[in-house]
Amino acid sequence: MSDSLFADASKRLEKALKYVSISEDAIARLKYPKASLTVSIPVRMDDGSLQIFQGYRVRYDNTRGPAKGGVRYHPKVSLDEVQSLAFWMTFKCAVLDLPFGGGKGGITLNPKELSKLELERLSRGYIDAIADFIGPDVDILAPDVYTNSMIMGWMMDQYCIIRRHISLAVVTGKPLSIGGSVGREEATATGAFFVIESIMPKFKRLPNETTVAVQGFGNAGAVLAELLSQAGYKVVAISDSQGGIYAKKGLNIPSIRQYKASSKGIKAVYCEGSVCNIVEHEVLTNQELLALDVDILIPAALENQITEENVYDVKAKYIFEVANGPITSAADNILAARGIYVVPDILVNAGGVTVSYFEWLQNRSGLYWKLEEVNQRLKAKMVEETERIWSISQELDISMRTAAYVHALNRLGESLDAGGTRDYYINSI
Ligand code: NAD
Repeated sequence: MSDSLFADASKRLEKALKYVSISEDAIARLKYPKASLTVSIPVRMDDGSLQIFQGYRVRYDNTRGPAKGGVRYHPKVSLDEVQSLAFWMTFKCAVLDLPFGGGKGGITLNPKELSKLELERLSRGYIDAIADFIGPDVDILAPDVYTNSMIMGWMMDQYCIIRRHISLAVVTGKPLSIGGSVGREEATATGAFFVIESIMPKFKRLPNETTVAVQGFGNAGAVLAELLSQAGYKVVAISDSQGGIYAKKGLNIPSIRQYKASSKGIKAVYCEGSVCNIVEHEVLTNQELLALDVDILIPAALENQITEENVYDVKAKYIFEVANGPITSAADNILAARGIYVVPDILVNAGGVTVSYFEWLQNRSGLYWKLEEVNQRLKAKMVEETERIWSISQELDISMRTAAYVHALNRLGESLDAGGTRDYYINSI
């Protein structure tokens, strides 16, 4: 496996370039992030000491609109990771035909070690540090791993304090009471559900004869597990950072979610109760979950979960990537050779940014939609783009991942070229 996540992510682009006819200039511009910012954030801790945290914001591309992307709080956040996530956001927004480019941010920390007030000071400090780099027409933030609507609310509030005017659309995924959109919290999972429901009938798979394992029981994974079990799929295994549980008969997902919600540690910020403590089950590790003999495997935690080391253990027939980058490019090739069907992150998890776009639109128009309208529009977009990518993959006989990149590249190439040449010189006309 490559040391750099970004170098590995870029290999997917190289593969797709063979199937598109976009200009050399456009290709060259898509290989590098437009701007990367590294900041240090001083935070006064509850005990009076000062701690300095490292934060990042990367704007990968903004040809099709302002950059858009979440903010991650995690001990493993690095510039390389944030850059890769911003790269994926660029292609994701193009796949869904959203008027956005790709961005991402993050802070390196273990958020579970901070009190709620420390987290608020840190989140406001991050906005102080990056305020000139973001804005509703420049670069728009959203939640990602270990950030949530409460944190988005603090960030939006801090940006408004700095700018001295109300600017709801600078952050999406906010609480409903300050400009959030109904359906945003569940949007990533709902979008993934629409993709699964579009793909599985093509293989003549019915929900009630399909078993599912979900790695990661957070905003995306837990809601998707519930949607799938409501639709009749048998969700037999789930996990979080502490480990997983398995029940051959299927798990009662709503009751597990309810338990997790009621056992919240730092109220409404992080769940502390692990799924391991909750129901009748067999305990298993995250590695064992990835190796289960199920029909559908859903990685919904972090990147680099399926690598050259464990790829031969995978027994699932279909993988839907809800997390960003859960499969390395080397493992991807091996899965393809083994006939395991992979539907890629830049399509599967795009429901989140799609409803973020709806939130941004609602903030700017001042007109708020009902849940049915949000979900109807989300479904239309997810199904339409899934079908297009499926058709490209069938026509060119390529994987769904390469087809998704081809689809995005065609849109990005056209937009980059439509912007014209930057500097005229004699041979350019
Ligand atoms: P979250 O913080 O709500 O949940 C993350 C979950 O993963 C938690 O249950 C955590 O315990 C678990 N986890 C952490 N480390 C793990 C490990 N090593 N093994 C197994 N589980 C582990 O985050 P989320 O918003 O659900 O995001 C999950 C993934 O989905 C990320 O890759 C994120 O980039 C992607 N994603 C999220 C959104 C969104 O709108 N939230 C949108 C697109 C993509």
